[in-house]
Amino acid sequence: MVDQRRRFFLRSAQKTKQQSLPWIKDIGAFTDHCTRCGECERACEEQIIVSGDGGFPTIDFNRGECTFCYACAQACPEKLFHSNDQRPWQQAISINENCLAQKNIECRSCHDACDERAIRFQHRLGSVAQPEININDCSGCGACVAPCPTNAISMEQQA
Ligand code: SF4
Ligand code: SF4
Ligand code: SF4
Repeated sequence: MVDQRRRFFLRSAQKTKQQSLPWIKDIGAFTDHCTRCGECERACEEQIIVSGDGGFPTIDFNRGECTFCYACAQACPEKLFHSNDQRPWQQAISINENCLAQKNIECRSCHDACDERAIRFQHRLGSVAQPEININDCSGCGACVAPCPTNAISMEQQA
């Protein structure tokens, strides 16, 4: 039988896109073991962990970026997190059609926010420079999300 709170979480996640915390071992089984104690939320100095759907922790990149400090994992009393010698997650950004540059309006806010230099701007004939993401360089930190004036940036799980 499917746990009711898990069913609620999965249904809600489809609707609102629950964002996984870094270093989660098994995203699919997360709600089986997370007790919603809030220790990770209190430990995050960036205050980007918030209580999401069903009370399960999620990350709100509109509040800031993940610095990969590992404090959330260390604070968690359950065995939900990998050790930090592994990659924190398999995710990178995607830019949608709300991007100002795609509407021929000069903007490089995402580029300026990215320490990894994962967003480069390429000149195109007849339009302002367009953002191009180098997925391999994107750490998924989310630093570019909040500065985007049109909410054009979202995080996508990579295969
Ligand atoms: S690794 Fe640090 S900054 Fe990132 S979510 Fe966890 S506590 Fe917050
Ligand atoms: S910050 Fe947003 S609107 Fe500006 S170029 Fe980047 S994706 Fe486009
Ligand atoms: S998520 Fe971080 S690393 Fe990736 S493009 Fe945005 S700022 Fe750069």
